[in-house]
Amino acid sequence: APGLVWFRSDLRVLDNPALYHASQRCSQVIGVYLLFPQQWQLQHDSNNKLYFWMQNLRVLENELGRLNIPLVIVPAELFSKAPTTLLELAKTFNTQSLWLNDEYGVYEQKRDNDTERLFRHQGIPCHRYHQQTLFIPGTLRNKQGDYFKVFTPFKRNLFQQITSEQLQPLPAPEKQAPLSLPHTSPESSEQLFPPTARNIDDHWPAGEAAAHSRLNTFLVNTIEQYHNQRDYPSIAGTSSISPWLTAGTLSVRQCFHQALQANNGEMDTGNRGITTWLGELVWREFYKHILHGFPRVSMHRAFKPETENLAWQSDPELLKAWQEGKTGFPIVDAAMRQLTSTGWMHNRLRMVTAMFLSKNLLIDWRLGEQFFMEHLIDGDLAANNGGWQWSASTGTDAAPYFRMFNPTSQSERFDQQGIFIRQWLPELAHLDNRQIHAPYQKSKQLELNYPSPIASHSESRERVMNAFKALKDPL
Ligand code: FAD
Repeated sequence: APGLVWFRSDLRVLDNPALYHASQRCSQVIGVYLLFPQQWQLQHDSNNKLYFWMQNLRVLENELGRLNIPLVIVPAELFSKAPTTLLELAKTFNTQSLWLNDEYGVYEQKRDNDTERLFRHQGIPCHRYHQQTLFIPGTLRNKQGDYFKVFTPFKRNLFQQITSEQLQPLPAPEKQAPLSLPHTSPESSEQLFPPTARNIDDHWPAGEAAAHSRLNTFLVNTIEQYHNQRDYPSIAGTSSISPWLTAGTLSVRQCFHQALQANNGEMDTGNRGITTWLGELVWREFYKHILHGFPRVSMHRAFKPETENLAWQSDPELLKAWQEGKTGFPIVDAAMRQLTSTGWMHNRLRMVTAMFLSKNLLIDWRLGEQFFMEHLIDGDLAANNGGWQWSASTGTDAAPYFRMFNPTSQSERFDQQGIFIRQWLPELAHLDNRQIHAPYQKSKQLELNYPSPIASHSESRERVMNAFKALKDPL
């Protein structure tokens, strides 16, 4: 009897355990994808990301079609509707088993557990696999048996435990005999989510072939200098594969495996660019484990509970200035315009803009987290929440001192010649390399079509430090 393979954040044919094992064990396989527009809206998932997912889904449908595997796309609105919607499909197609790759968010786990229960009740087994991370969240623990709360020991432990078998990607399933189903897919699901960013198809072409081509180009041309170049937003020094990794068009195992091969199988010695990049993939892993071990972080709560009472300032005007890229800090504004125009932002600038909002403006990190989700093409709860909480010092940053970037120094250091700023703020393009980082500060005479700074770094630094101190010494 045919098996039903439920695709989610694993929009690929290669290295897809649920798909591979279903096709090995069932006479035939039918793929299904559920659309959850209401759920996605509640989660603030951006149209940029959803549009990209829909494009990837189309390519997946074609790739599966070449293997004679039909893909059915069905609207289900909310996660809570998944179990019954799938059961109906299973009955319609007379499928006798359900196959899926686990997702580790709290709500995703509930959805999948509910589905499995309902299916079992009907005598239909549910086969669940692991693919989203290298290790199943919860399986890497410190000596006390607890989840790691700090990145470096987590990484060390991961490097020690990982085996080469674990890193071996799976092949595509074999072609099956033709199976004809009534065409049920909505005609144009990509129309459901008109993107707000420009040229998504050019920047991130959909599908596995495009994703692998980007990964390979990075591995051949860029990775060896990754450690030197990754912090400079004007250089394409990073892989920019995050949208595909989030959609699951690529698996982390494929990335890890290929990078390791390029480094003769070495994880922490050999080429520094490669080892640094492997470490970044481990950051992704780390935050997914944190999300699983500390589910409060997916419920708008701080990782460090003692920071829950921080005196955030509510200021819609300042928030808006930040969102629109009108803070008067060129590096912050250029970054925010990159985000809203392309759906992606360079990692260094994600840290700079997140610290600016949460520390210079003392605005609740949750508002920034949400705005990022509403625009990012790679929006991922674990990484975005982890990055925001790290930047706001409510999260896993283990630094023994209070970490706060000075946006102007960051700009001078990482965009020394103002190349990135000029790209996004043409109104400042004529300024020299000294003025461009802080136009009004360096020259009082300037008349620019550009706002004056909405905060003073030194004053805001003192204010946020006092706000954190007040948590320790309540009056
Ligand atoms: P590369 O430098 O080439 O890294 C390769 C991959 O490693 C990335 O694609 C990503 O999957 C992973 N990775 C790298 N750095 C991190 C990190 N710090 N945390 C987690 N994973 C990492 N990443 C997301 O994928 N989705 C998000 O929603 C997201 N939000 C963020 C919010 C903030 C405030 C911060 C500071 C970081 C956030 N990141 C997020 C992490 C990081 O900025 C992006 O993964 C990275 O910029 C993607 O570009 P790249 O693919 O070229 O990365």
